[in-house]
Parts: sequence; structure tokens; C-alpha cells
Amino acid sequence: MNSRLYRLKYESLKPGTCAAYERAMRVERLSPDEIEADNWRQTRELVAYAYQHVPFYRNRFDQIGFHPEDLREQSDFHLVPVLTKRDIRDYRFEMVSDEARLSRDFNTITTGGTTGEPLTVFHVKRAPRAALLWRMLAWWQLGPESDWASVYRETRTSWRSRLREGVINWPGRRLMLDAAHLTGDAMRAFLQDFDRLQPPLLHGYVGGVDRLAEFVLSQNLTVHAPRAIWLTSSPFTRIQAHRIEAAFHAPVYDQYGCCEVFYLAAECPTREGLHMFQDRRRIDFLDESGRACSDGEYGAVAITDLDSRLFPIIRYLNGDRGRALARRCSCGRGLPLMDKVQGRISDRVLLPDGGVISGELLTTIFDDTPDAVRQFQVHQAADYSITIRVIPNPDYAGLAVRLEAVRCKLADLTGPVVTVRLESVREIPQERGKLRFVRSDVVGREAQGLAS
Ligand SMILES: [Zn+2]
Repeated sequence: MNSRLYRLKYESLKPGTCAAYERAMRVERLSPDEIEADNWRQTRELVAYAYQHVPFYRNRFDQIGFHPEDLREQSDFHLVPVLTKRDIRDYRFEMVSDEARLSRDFNTITTGGTTGEPLTVFHVKRAPRAALLWRMLAWWQLGPESDWASVYRETRTSWRSRLREGVINWPGRRLMLDAAHLTGDAMRAFLQDFDRLQPPLLHGYVGGVDRLAEFVLSQNLTVHAPRAIWLTSSPFTRIQAHRIEAAFHAPVYDQYGCCEVFYLAAECPTREGLHMFQDRRRIDFLDESGRACSDGEYGAVAITDLDSRLFPIIRYLNGDRGRALARRCSCGRGLPLMDKVQGRISDRVLLPDGGVISGELLTTIFDDTPDAVRQFQVHQAADYSITIRVIPNPDYAGLAVRLEAVRCKLADLTGPVVTVRLESVREIPQERGKLRFVRSDVVGREAQGLAS
């Protein structure tokens, strides 16, 4: 009943969302082939629209002699040039459709970005984004009106924004813990409210939720078990998922998105991979030449937002690396699967001979012994030497032997020219609520060299 009421209210604020939600629930039951065919039809329409109505795309296509009619089959999609962060930064006004009005049709979103360089994009106001959120919540047995507890950045800074959010969420209630201020007192107060309100959903930044889980475990607290825990905004390791589930006795679900195009993919209850929202988005994984990787192969994530005609985002490289999975999910949904995003393109270490050890590998070095450490970070200094920084779990039997085994495993990979050491620490600093598992000053230096 509350779900219906909520949807009706939302529909009055954002017409079209309910129909989009019903369509989304129908589409996920179609076969993978049907979903793919529909995705390709929408993709071609978007490219044709962009050419006709958006100066940026018309210029760019003309410059390289590409015409939307060149897209005959899926394998032709690599002919469409990729869109970079720099393109958006330099040309965002030219990326607006001639059918749109800036003041009327868009919300302006500025993202911090993990690279620290802010980026401004336009979000089409009428795009029914909430439909994808509602579908995801439905997978986890939650309604859009469900009460939430969030460990996130506090965005409601004025009474106006608080009021607005209150209206949007009603009758659902939101509990908030500011991820930037995770003091013992703040966490204790939040957990008291959490127990009182008993929200079925705990949501938030991986780093923040993980910190809260650590607190619950270290204080031996027994807290309310929600129905689902939704982690967002950055990759997490099995260690973290394990710890969070131990503290809250609920399944952790991974959701993938980015600020430029919110919802992209999410896990269903079987957790065999993340279902890509290919009915409203297109996610490609590109090799170095810009062609699609085969299933199972890692590549650069390229996003096309099928819902954003007035500000087309086509083959946008958001800086992440990932891969598609060939298998179908046993839940029966036709939306194809991608693997968990393990890291950003910059999350890797370089060897003096030009070799690379990927972030996908580095983030899993403790997967065989998730209980041995509470947190870790692989840090490469400018002289190529590598430090595995860990917050060890003192109760773990045979800890020293395990840590040394992990160090040797990594040293084997790097070879004798790179020193690999291990350092036990009490804290690993986070960047805006996110822990970077892999940091390389060599990669950072190269990136700076490229930018200048
Ligand atoms: Zn599934």
C-alpha cells in the first residue's frame, strides 16, 4: 500500500517514472537476445539524434568522416569516437541538444571525482532515473518508500534541501550518518537510532559502512539486522564484505554507478555478478584500440546513457576498468552480467621494465585469508618499491606466516628488481570516505606528465 502511495506521489513530482518502472520490470524478463536487440536499436537512435541535434557530436563525427548510417551491426560501434572527461570539461555547452534549454531541462551536477578534478555535467530533469533505483530495490525485497539508513556525505545543508528531501522520501524515513565525521559518539548515536527505526536498508560508502561495522564488532554490539546492505561508490574487497556481513547479519549487495550517469548495474540476490541495466544504459568494455573486449576480458568501461538525449553521453570513458561475464544469472533475469569493478585504470603498479600488475590482481591478494587483515593498501613509491600496508587482525592464528606468504606472492610477481615490504599500521587514510587499495606514485607521475 505504501509503495503505491509513494509511487503516485513521486509520479506527481516526476511524471513518467511509474511507466518507466513498469517497463523496466517487464524488460528484465525478456531474453538476453531481445534485450540486446532493443539496446542496439536505442543506441543507434541516440547516435543519430546526437548527430542531428548536438553540435559537439556533429563536429566530431564530421571531422573523422563518421556518419550514423555507418552503424550497421554492433561490431561497428567502435567507429563512434569515445568521450573523455576532458571533452566534457571543454565542450559541455556544445554537448547540449538544440532542442533543450539549459535553465529548463537540466540539473547541473558537479562531481568531485576520485582523481580530485571536479567535473560538471548536465542531468536531464525528465529522465526517469528513479525507475532503475526502484527496480534495484525490488530485487532486494524493498519498496521505494522503505526506510533507509545511510552512511554517506551529508548533502542536506539548508532547510530547503532538507524539506525537499523529506517530501521526496515521504512516507519513508531516512537516517543519516555523515561519512566525513565518523567519531565514536556519532556512530553510537546513529546505531541507537538505527535500532529504534529498524530500517530494512543500510546504504552507503564502502569505507563508511565498513568503519561502522568495525565499530560494531570491536564494541561487541548486537544491532538491528536490515534486509539488505547496499554498498556504492567504490570497489570493495571480500574482507570488507565479510566484516560488514558479520556485523549486521545481512547480505551485502554491490551496485555500480558513477556521478555522470547514476545507476549502471547492480547485484540481484543470487550475487553471481552485477546485472547491467542494458535496457536504459549501454556498458562496453574496450581494449587499447577502442574495440569491445570479449567476455571475461578486462577493459576500459565506456558508458552510453540511453536516457539522456538532450545531453548525450556516448562511449564515455569514466576511468574504471571492468569486464563482462559470459554466463547467465541463475535468477533468470535477461539483463547481462558484469564482474565487480575492481579498480580504476590508474589503480595498478608499474615495473621498471614496463610491465604492469593490474588492480584486479592487487585487490585480491588477501582473498584466500580474508580474516587475516582488517584493511590493506598496496602503495608503490616513486622508486618502484612497493609497501603492502596492513591493519592486521591480532587474533588471527599464524598471522605472521600468512602475511609473509602474501608478501612473497607479490614479490614473485614483481621480480627481484622491485623491493616489496610489509608494514603493519593502525590506520590507513581514506580519500573522501573511500579507501584506495592501490596507489602508485609511478602511475601518478606518468599521469601528471601526460596532463602537462
Ligand atoms: Zn540475477
